Formats: sequence, structure tokens, C-alpha cells
Amino acid sequence: MKIKKAGHSLQWKIILLYCMLVFLATTIIGVFLINQLEDYYVNSARTDMEKTVTEGTLMTSLTPLLPLEEHRDEIQTNVEAWAKPLSQEIFVVSDDLRIVASNNTNRGRSAVGILDDGLLLHALSGKSAQNQGYIVSGGGEIHVMNMVFPIKTEQGEIAGVLYLRSDMSSVDEAMAQSKSILLRAMLIGLLITFILSFFISRSITKPINDVTEKAEKMAAGDFSHEVQAKADDEIGRLAEMFNYLRLQLDDALSQIEGEKNKLETVLRHMADGLLATDLSGKIIHVNQAAINILQHAQPDIENEDYDSIMLSFNPGLTLETLKERCANGPDNEIFEVSGKTYDMRFDKFRDENGSEIGIIMIIQDITQRIKAENMQMDFVANVSHELKTPLTTIKSYTETLLDGVADNREIERSFLEIIDLEADRMSRLVSDLLQLFRMESKQDGSNMVEGNLIGVLSLALTKVELSIAGKHQKLNCLFDADRRIAVVMERDHIEQVILNVVSNASKYTQDGGRIDIDAFVADKEARITVSDNGIGIPENALSRVFERFFRVDKARSRSMGGTGLGLSISKQIMEDHGGRIEIDSREGRGTRVTLALPLAPSMMRGTPNID
Ligand code: ADP
Repeated sequence: MKIKKAGHSLQWKIILLYCMLVFLATTIIGVFLINQLEDYYVNSARTDMEKTVTEGTLMTSLTPLLPLEEHRDEIQTNVEAWAKPLSQEIFVVSDDLRIVASNNTNRGRSAVGILDDGLLLHALSGKSAQNQGYIVSGGGEIHVMNMVFPIKTEQGEIAGVLYLRSDMSSVDEAMAQSKSILLRAMLIGLLITFILSFFISRSITKPINDVTEKAEKMAAGDFSHEVQAKADDEIGRLAEMFNYLRLQLDDALSQIEGEKNKLETVLRHMADGLLATDLSGKIIHVNQAAINILQHAQPDIENEDYDSIMLSFNPGLTLETLKERCANGPDNEIFEVSGKTYDMRFDKFRDENGSEIGIIMIIQDITQRIKAENMQMDFVANVSHELKTPLTTIKSYTETLLDGVADNREIERSFLEIIDLEADRMSRLVSDLLQLFRMESKQDGSNMVEGNLIGVLSLALTKVELSIAGKHQKLNCLFDADRRIAVVMERDHIEQVILNVVSNASKYTQDGGRIDIDAFVADKEARITVSDNGIGIPENALSRVFERFFRVDKARSRSMGGTGLGLSISKQIMEDHGGRIEIDSREGRGTRVTLALPLAPSMMRGTPNID
């Protein structure tokens, strides 16, 4: 946001205010003064004229000279005598409005058009009067003051008018001069006011501008600037508070920033997908996990439309559906997309006032969990089934024995042998299960030591030699029995793997078949291969032989005493050793199992530290 600068306008406002106040004050004083002065001049002019008549003997000198027309010359002499020291014009006008005498040149002429008719008539009606006006003289107008006095006979009749005219141009001049002095004083006053108010207003607006400028920088995220607060007045306090606010805000913002970063890191690294939309369906937040789950090619899907993104993922979960479903609280939906199972939980979220502003969704990939749950259920079902079969056999044979049906000792013995065999199978199954359980829960204390793999292999082979020989199978040991291949291992476990694999080779190879065993070092690992020319494994079953309880031919495996757990235990052991087990087979042709283990560090250095 761009903040407009207000300092100048405030400064000019203050200057204008000061100037207006001074202008107003000087105007009022000026008008008052001019009026007073004008009144004074006019009054003194009027008093002068009145004095001429009232204090002097002009009027009294005229009374004996009535009627006026008959004493023209005497009156003229009097008038001239009187007028001499005065700046006024004096006219003596007869009652028929003729100028009888005058210190002006208009003597003998009619007063009409020369003197003010109205005033003359006023005086002829017996009253004194006065007015101001203009007369035309020498091509210009002259401001004059006129005064009339009626000339009365001794009987009180009006015999004529004494008309006085005073030139007021000197008064006008004085007034004009006074006005110009006042105007100049006003202009000087305004100029001084302007200069003073400029500095005064600047001292007010400068700190305000400073605060504004720093606030603008703060808005842009720069909190390093402090406002200089010198004055101990309201503005000084404003600056002080501003600095305090700056520190508080800086603190609060860095806290918020820290929290935000923390939250973003959590959201970024969380395995579950998080998606938030506003109520119009615009995506306002999405984490990387959600983008991965939605398999969206575009990494930045913020601001995009939720429905269009969700359409290809799960068209049933439109924004409207979510809004309806979480109207009364959180809800969830479990669905499958391209072989994966997802659990999507959703709920509305609200702002600080409690009004709903959007929907938040957590998408969890629960494929593994579902798989594990299914496996667990399968496992329990398998175990129950595996235990049930020998138990049923034992139960039926014991019942037969108890019924005394088998009175023949030989039959009795064969029944007991079957019971013994089934009990053995159960015991094997339970011990296999226990081992599996111990390995999975890592309860087996690790007893890894560096040892010779050839030694373990040879020992294991001596344990199965007899049974192999019993089936007339040929055991070919292709490895050099004196060789040392050092690996870090838990001897018992590796021996068990070898026993499982070799006995499988014997079990699933017809009598008279052959079993080749080799041990060597390749690609920096120790390898044992066990090959047979037995029945082999069909291709479609090959990938499943490491599953628990999986057997290609259940009846055959059972008759051989197998539990279906051997290879899965072996795989677990090999993986615990950082190695692997691989199986190649062709149905009817034979099977080859490869066991691979990492070489011991001493073996890698070429100095095996074993017997
Ligand atoms: P079992 O106790 O049934 O032998 P395993 O886990 O050891 O269980 O083996 C799983 C299945 O793999 C066996 O039932 C068998 O069908 C098949 N199998 C394992 N080894 C061989 C082999 N050498 N030749 C043929 N089939 C084999």
C-alpha cells in the first residue's frame, strides 16, 4: 500500500490559518480605524462649517440686510470678508432661489443646477440641513460637504438661505493615505506571519513526517529505524510511544514469524497430505505430501479451484459434498485410487470470530496399514488353521484309542506314532512362530560375531547328510572346505537358514536326485548357492514363496513336515544380517537358492581374523 504524504498539506494548512487570522484581524482593525478616521474628518469639517455660521456674525450680519435682493452689494462685501480666512464657499440664496452673494463666481445666477436643490428646499422650509456630494469642476468631480441654514426675518419668516460648501478632497486624500498605510501594514504583517508560521508549522509537521516515514518503513518490514523524540510535548510523546510500539511490534512479528516457520516446517515434513480451501473452493494451503498424493504435476496449486483438482482424484468428494458432510462436525471418507487406499478427514475451520471460512482436509495413505491389518488377520487365520489340522488328527486318533477300537498293538502303535508326528509338527510350528515373533519384535538379543561362513555351512551339512543319504540323493559340495570366508553373523541363525534351504532342496527333490552346494565370494559379498534338480516352483508361485504359510503344494509340504514358515524366517534372518535370499526355479527342472551376506570388514581388508 502506498501511503500519501500528508506533511505538506498540514504545513500549508497551518500557514494559511495563521495568515487568515492576521488578515482578518488587520482587516477588522483597518475597517474600524478607517471608519473612525473618516467620521472624525467629516465631523471636524462639519463643526468648522457650523462654527462659521453659529459662532461668527455672518448670519446676524444678514438679518438687517433684508430683503436680500435689495442689499446685494453689502451682503457680497460681507460674504467676501467672511470667506477670506475660510476654505469654504459661501452662498446667500434668496427665497426665489437666486444667488444673491457668493465668494464664488456664480453671483446673480439661479441656484438651481449649481447648488443642491433638495437642501435649498429643506432650508426654505425652515430647517438647517447638511449632506455630502460631488460637484463637477475643471473636468473632474470634487467631493464636497454642503450645509444650509435658513435666513429668517425678525418675524421668523424665511427670507433666504445661507448655503455653505466645503471641499472635502483633503479629507479624501488623508483617508486614502491612511488606507494605503494600513494596507502596507497588513501586507508586512502577512509577510511576517507567513515566514513565522512557516517555521512554526514546520516544527510541528517535521516530527509527524518523521513518524510517518518510519511507519512506512515498518510497514515494509524494516523495524531498525527509531524516531528522534526530542521535545517534551505531545509530539515528543507520540514519537516515544511510536518507538515503543515499534519494539513491541518487532517482537510480536518475529514471534509470529517463528511460529509460522515452525508450522510450515511441520506441514512440509508431515507424511499426511494437508489441503485447505476457502468456502468458494479456492485452495489456500497445500503441502508437498498432498501434492504428491493428488499426483498433481503442477507444484503450485494454491489459488486453484479445489473441485477441478479433486475431479481426477475422487470425483465424489466435491466441495459441496464436503460442506454438507461436515455440517455437524468432522467426517471422513476411505477410498481407493490407483491401488492405494486413502483416508480423507475433513472439517470446517473458522476465524477468530467463529465464522466458517473454509474446509481443511487431511489425506492419509493407509495402504500399508490396511495391508498390515489384512496380513495380521490372515496370519491369525493361518495359524489357527495350521494348528487345527494336527489337533483334529490327534483328537480323532486319541478318541479311537480311547474307544478301544484299535485292540491290535501294532495298530495302536501306528496311531501313537501319528499322534507323536502331529505333536512334533505342532511343536515345530509353535517354535517357528515364536522365532518369527521374536525376530520381528527384535527381542532376540543380537549376538553378531565375525566368523567363517564355510565352517557354519559345513557344520549344517553334516546335520542333513543323513536324511539326504536316506533319500539316496547326491550331495555335491563344490566349495573348498578349507577356505575362509569371513562374515559378521549370528551363527545359529545363519545355520538355520542353510538348514531350511538345504532341507527344502532335499524335500522337494525326488529320491535319487542331486543337490549342489557352492560357497564363494563375488561382488564383495559372500554367497552360498543351493541347487537341486527337483520338482521346481511354478513361475506364478515364485514371488510368493517368502510369504508366511505359503506352500506350492500344501499336502506335499505337510507330508514332509513343512510349516510354510521356513523361507519367510530365512528371509527375515538374511535381511537382519544386511544380506538377501533369492530363489530361481523352473517347474520340473529344479531350483536354485542364493544366500548372500556382506563380507566382514577384515575380509574386505584381506586379513580375515577367523579360524
Ligand atoms: P515349507 O515348510 O512348506 O517347506 P518353506 O517356507 O520352506 O515352507 O517353503 C515354502 C514353499 O516353497 C514350499 O512349500 C515349497 O512349495 C516351495 N519350495 C521351497 N523350496 C523349494 C525347492 N527347493 N524346490 C521346490 N519347491 C520349493
